Amino acid sequence: MQRALEVISESPEETRILGASLAPTLVPGDVISLGGDLGAGKTTFVQGLGAALGVDQVITSPTFTLVHEYIGRYLLVHVDVYRLNSFQEVIDLGFEELADPGAILIVEWGDAVLPFLPMRYLEISLRRLDDAEALTQRRISYRAHGPDWVHKLGAMRDAAEALLDAASLEISGGHRFQES
Ligand code: ADP
Ligand code: MG
Repeated sequence: MQRALEVISESPEETRILGASLAPTLVPGDVISLGGDLGAGKTTFVQGLGAALGVDQVITSPTFTLVHEYIGRYLLVHVDVYRLNSFQEVIDLGFEELADPGAILIVEWGDAVLPFLPMRYLEISLRRLDDAEALTQRRISYRAHGPDWVHKLGAMRDAAEALLDAASLEISGGHRFQES
């Protein structure tokens, strides 16, 4: 069982598939933090995750509105804390109450609110492999915090390997992910 994994996404579509691969492992109360610069693909990842959770609305960036809520198989609370400048603003937003045990919480720029995250959460970060805007490769890294996330990460990996193979001309034979 691995605590940390990474994979290369070649396209927005692959990033959505990676988001979708998490959905079967999620239960209410789960918290996911998404890190990475602007344009790295955080919202794209949430779009795939939400669709696989049965959300039929279009998932857009909550950068200006801070919090979007979607109803799919479960309540999905999608937060972007990029525009918050201080911990006080995070408290004012009611961030602690957002961690509703009945909802799945996914936070863009979650590393900025680390002190507010629970002990158990999945940390994901996305990084461009090249600065050129046109290039679409992203390194997506996962780190499990808490024992249940270590197991869920293994399940996510198996689902993702199968889905990426199914969507691609190239069969990797289940070797896209690396331990990190
Ligand atoms: P963020 O939420 O991190 O600011 P977005 O998901 O809103 O990023 O935007 C990512 C942009 O990068 C989109 O325009 C998307 O089409 C593009 N893109 C190119 N390659 C990828 C990839 N491999 N994964 C995710 N997005 C990608
Ligand atoms: Mg975003």
